[in-house]
Amino acid sequence: MPMSHVFHRSSVKAPPAVSRGEGAYLYDQSGKAYLDGSGGAAVSCLGHGDAHVTEAIRAQLDQVAFAHTGFFTSPPAEALADRLVALAPGDLNRVYFVSGGSEAMEAALKLARQYHLERGEAGRSRIIARRQSYHGNTLGALATGGNAWRREPFAPLLMEVSHVAPCYAYRGQQEGESEAAYCDRLIAEIEDEIERVGPESVMAFVAEPVVGATLGAVPSVPGYFKRIREICDRHGILMILDEVMCGMGRTGTLFACEQDVVAPDILCVAKGLGAGYQPIGAMLCTEIMHEVIAQGSGFFQHGHTYVGHPVACAAAGAVLDRVVGDDLLGRVHPMGAVLRGMLEDRFGQHPHVGDIRGRGLFLGLELVQDRATKAPIDPARKIHAQVKAAAFAEGLICYPNGGTIDGKQGAHVLLAPPFILTEDQAAELVDKLARAFVAVGL
Ligand code: PMP
Repeated sequence: MPMSHVFHRSSVKAPPAVSRGEGAYLYDQSGKAYLDGSGGAAVSCLGHGDAHVTEAIRAQLDQVAFAHTGFFTSPPAEALADRLVALAPGDLNRVYFVSGGSEAMEAALKLARQYHLERGEAGRSRIIARRQSYHGNTLGALATGGNAWRREPFAPLLMEVSHVAPCYAYRGQQEGESEAAYCDRLIAEIEDEIERVGPESVMAFVAEPVVGATLGAVPSVPGYFKRIREICDRHGILMILDEVMCGMGRTGTLFACEQDVVAPDILCVAKGLGAGYQPIGAMLCTEIMHEVIAQGSGFFQHGHTYVGHPVACAAAGAVLDRVVGDDLLGRVHPMGAVLRGMLEDRFGQHPHVGDIRGRGLFLGLELVQDRATKAPIDPARKIHAQVKAAAFAEGLICYPNGGTIDGKQGAHVLLAPPFILTEDQAAELVDKLARAFVAVGL
C-alpha cells in the first residue's frame, strides 16, 4: 500500500478504504462486505445510502450550502428545531446546533455556567459526573468524562470535576443487595459529594442515561435518575443528560431519558441526529435557561463557524422523516428484542460472556475470564481490540471497548445496528460475532 498522508488514529496499520454503503452494509475497495453492526460508533441508525436523506441534502445544496449564523438563520435549522422541541420531553424549548457530540457537550457546559452567572450565582462552577462515562474528546468534555485511559495523558489540562460511581448493577450491586438498596447507595454518594464540595458551588450533574462507549449499553436501575432530578432541583443544580450516543431512537424511544421518566435542563444529541449523512449535534435547553440569558446579557458567549449548518440541518430533518415519519423508531424495540434473544441463545451460557444488556438496538456484551466470579480478562490481552479485528476480518463491524471500572479492567462489545436491520441480518451478526470469539480464543 502506498504511504498515506492522512493522520490516521492508529499508526500501526492504515484501515482499508471504504468505497460504498448500502443498507446495513459497507463495502471496501476490494468489494468485501461488512455488516455494520454498530453503525460505526452508534451513528448510522438508518444504514447507508438512504435515498430520502441524500435527496434532501442535494436539494439544500441547490438552494444554499452555507450562510454564517452571525448573519442568517435558515429554513432547515428553524424547521428542525421546531420538530425536536415538539418531540422532546419536559420544557426543552430551544435548540443550539453544532457539528458533533463533543461540541454539544462543550456548549452545554458553557451554557450552564453562563446561566448561573447571569442569575447571580457566580460561585457555581463544579461539575458532578460519573466514573466510566464518555462525554467527548475536547478538553471540557474530556474533563467531565470519567474514563481514566482517555484522560490520563491530558490530566494537567483538565479542570477539576467530581466523579461519582456510575449506575452499573452488573459490577456495582453487591451480593445480597437489592436493586433499591443499590440505588440508595449511589444516591447517597452523590448527596455526600454535593455536601462535601458545598451545594452552592455545584453547576451541573452530567450523565449518559444509557452508558455507551465506556461500559457497553448500561442503563440505570429504576428510579435512579428521578432521584437525581429531585436532588438537582433541591439544590439548584442543572441536570445535563448526554444522549449523544443513546439518543435519537437508539434505545426505542426518541430520547433515552423518556424511559427513565425524567427531563433534564439540558440534553445533548448527535450521532443518530444526522445518522452519519452530515456531521451535526444539538444541545436542547429549557426556555427558562434561554430566558435568563435573553433578559441578561442577551448573548450566549459561545459559537463555532458551522453552528446551524443548513445542509447538516436539512439532512437531520430528513433523518427525522425516516425515524419518526416512517416510524423506523417503531422497529427498534421489536428488532432489539429479536437481536437480544439471539444473543442470549448464543452467548447466554458462554463461559466468557458475563452479561448481556441494553435497551432497544443498543446492546452490550461484557467479556469476562470467568462467568461465576466476573473476573476480568487479563488486560494485557487487549481482548476488545482482538475481537474488533477478528470481527472485521469476518465482515462485521462491532464496537468493542476496554476500560477500567474502579480499578478493574472491563471489556465489552457494543452493538448498535441500523433500525432497518432484518432478522436474517441479526442472525448474520450473531454468527459472525460468534466466529470472532472463536478466532480470538474465547
Ligand atoms: N458523548 C457521548 C455519550 C459519546 O458517546 C460521544 C462519542 N462517542 C461523545 C459525547 C462525543 O461525540 P463526538 O465524537 O461526536 O464528538
